[in-house]
Amino acid sequence: MFPVRCFTCGAVIGHLWEEYRKKLEEGKNPKEALDELGIKRYCCRRMFLTHKSIIEEFANLRGAVG
Ligand SMILES: [Zn+2]
Repeated sequence: MFPVRCFTCGAVIGHLWEEYRKKLEEGKNPKEALDELGIKRYCCRRMFLTHKSIIEEFANLRGAVG
């Protein structure tokens, strides 16, 4: 689950995760997607970037198993 708030500054970011994912699916890179969502602080951006890498690990895991 994506955290509702940034661990560092407490900004509410949870509602932006789905939109962020959609932008990536549209072919945007993470930097563009975060800029468009108005996420400017590095601590908050890191939340998205870190979370994405976790998803990719799961994807890799699925690929290895299936
Ligand atoms: Zn933050």
